[in-house]
Amino acid sequence: MEDKKIDSTLSSESYWQDTVSLPTFPSLQHDIETDIGIVGGGITGITTAYMLAKEGLQVVLLEAGSLLNGTTGHTTAKVTAQHGLIYDELIRRFDASAAADYFTFNSLAMDWIKQMIKEKQIACDFSEEDAYLFTNSDEGFDLLINEKNAYKQIGIDHDFVEELPIGIPVKAALRMKRQYQFHPLKFLNSLLEEMLTLGVKIFEHTTATAVRHSENPAIQTKDGYQVFCSKVVEASHFPFTDARGGFSSRMYPERSYVAAVRTQKTYPGGMYASVDLPSRSIRYAPSQEGELWLIGGESHKTGKGGNTEKHYQALIDYSQDHFDMEEVRYRWSSQDLTTLDKLPYIGPISDKQSNIIVATGFRKWGMTLAAGAAHLIADTIMERPNLFAELFAPNRFHAKSHVKAYTKYNTDSAKELIKGKLEGTTIDVEEIPPLHASIIRAHGQRTGVYRDQEGSVHMIDTTCTHMGCEVNWNQAEQTWDCPCHGSRFSALGEVIEGPAKIPLKQKGNE
Ligand SMILES: Cc1cc2nc3c(=O)[nH]c(=O)nc-3n(C[C@H](O)[C@H](O)[C@H](O)COP(=O)(O)OP(=O)(O)OC[C@H]3O[C@@H](n4cnc5c(N)ncnc54)[C@H](O)[C@@H]3O)c2cc1C
Repeated sequence: MEDKKIDSTLSSESYWQDTVSLPTFPSLQHDIETDIGIVGGGITGITTAYMLAKEGLQVVLLEAGSLLNGTTGHTTAKVTAQHGLIYDELIRRFDASAAADYFTFNSLAMDWIKQMIKEKQIACDFSEEDAYLFTNSDEGFDLLINEKNAYKQIGIDHDFVEELPIGIPVKAALRMKRQYQFHPLKFLNSLLEEMLTLGVKIFEHTTATAVRHSENPAIQTKDGYQVFCSKVVEASHFPFTDARGGFSSRMYPERSYVAAVRTQKTYPGGMYASVDLPSRSIRYAPSQEGELWLIGGESHKTGKGGNTEKHYQALIDYSQDHFDMEEVRYRWSSQDLTTLDKLPYIGPISDKQSNIIVATGFRKWGMTLAAGAAHLIADTIMERPNLFAELFAPNRFHAKSHVKAYTKYNTDSAKELIKGKLEGTTIDVEEIPPLHASIIRAHGQRTGVYRDQEGSVHMIDTTCTHMGCEVNWNQAEQTWDCPCHGSRFSALGEVIEGPAKIPLKQKGNE
């Protein structure tokens, strides 16, 4: 069989983005007053805006770029309560009741999504699928047994099976029946349409830079305007007012890759995720040109993936080895944030700033967690009790689950910071091909050199403008990625993804 290579000219637009036509909105060019100001136009911001508009509140939503072009636009969109290996870990870190609450929270979110789709007849390729967590290693087998015992302890309906419908070799798999998948952007587009009729005001290309805090907060925008409101919801993936919550030391970003391929096989149904590394995630999408198999995985901490093209190639090789792949139709990658205790942060950012609410740290399971967060935020704002408020409170601190993880993560970040400062090669700049970059030492300073398509060379200071770590080049996405807290910059140094807000410094012709 001919070895397929990844086509490096494929854009990084996802299948979801390519198959939906989203409305566009102007940027904010005046001060505005509203009940609720929401920052971030991904699933978290949109579902929250929808819920709050349904409560009869006035809502303004700000998006730094275009709607649904962040992690949500690049997801795999399994809608499930099977979130990898999690329930055994939650029992060990917290207790069985916390693990059961996590399951209930996600199951309720699934019910809500299903109900919305049914009620509003949203055409979003929704289907019910069994979800499988599988392993083909002895170590993975032991982990899966522990997870199965956790399911039993907290009452999750499950089967332990020795074969998968999809035919990849496994030692065992844990099945959670009747989970869902959908086309996330078709679903959210439908909410957007309804939100507009409810009077939600949306502004794209409007970056929030800070919240001036008094009794009534005011969101400040990069262009110098303000949104005066009574509550702010930070749905910006990484909370954009990071300095207050200290989230940089409590969450880490991980990138993953997806290839949407056509194969010679008929998809047998089901959604799959591996316990073993490198991670693998499989589902299908019923596209107009036939079934697309979405093969995901290759997770790594942001900025530490080495040659990022190799991750796509690994997914292609896997598709070819297992599924007789014919053609790669799309490929994309994105990152999500994991908290130290694996539970998301949803709620007031701090005791003193109860009118600023965050929702983040979804650990690559934001389809249900964001929908659940929208409900929790609506209850918080409407001052209704919510069973899950305490579990996800951002100011929680559980010594048992935090201290070790906190020390390790921050030691890793500190190591990255020091290691980065010492790195840098003496490569000849003339050898850098177009659309590639390298790190050199110029005047003793670590410098990023990028050659654009026309052959011009651009130099940037590789010091991340967030907390001073050194960014690394991501060849597949053509970005500079920070290994400490996940900020990402374009080849020319513009901010693509926070927590950084300031571009990398241009180095010009020094
Ligand atoms: C490869 C991959 C696969 C995944 N697969 C699944 C899956 O199968 N099932 C599942 O449940 N979850 C999955 N996830 C996780 C899920 O996609 C995310 O948790 C979810 O999309 C996060 O949504 P969000 O709205 O919080 O963030 P985003 O979608 O990133 O939205 C945040 C928005 O805020 C904007 N923003 C940021 N800063 C500012 C600012 N200062 N001012 C204005 N706007 C700002 C950004 O531009 C962005 O549009 C996956 C994640 C990845 C990376």
